[in-house]
Amino acid sequence: MGDDPRTVTGGCICGAVRYRAAGQSLLVELCHCRSCRHAVGAPLMAWAAFRRDDFAITAGQSTAYESSPGLVRTFCGRCGTSLTLADDRFPGEIYISLASFDDAEVLPPEFHIWRSHRLSWLETSDSLPRYLQFRADGIVERSSEQP
Ligand SMILES: [Zn+2]
Ligand SMILES: [Zn+2]
Repeated sequence: MGDDPRTVTGGCICGAVRYRAAGQSLLVELCHCRSCRHAVGAPLMAWAAFRRDDFAITAGQSTAYESSPGLVRTFCGRCGTSLTLADDRFPGEIYISLASFDDAEVLPPEFHIWRSHRLSWLETSDSLPRYLQFRADGIVERSSEQP
């Protein structure tokens, strides 16, 4: 796994939990949903999705919390850094907190999701696609406020 040049590493701010993810990222998103916002304590959240088989905790142990049915978030139980999100609807995937990467520049976000939950005072000037929400069938609804 470590030989893959795309391998990313990261961890929490206190250093107790470390992880690594290999292979091609599946998607990189900026999520405006209320659940992410509340869970991480920030106005939006950046996630990079990988195949679950390509992800491994390499040091320490994360703490898990099911924030809604079938949706499990992990964080460091010591310092609180958000680490991952796993959704039962997408069993083969794991979402990793982009800001916890050792180098968060390596995977720039590709789109905004859950713009329907966006805080009115949060606006960005990027030209990424903006989606209103994410439906259970995996089809996203494109926002009319496209750049
Ligand atoms: Zn920590
Ligand atoms: Zn979210």
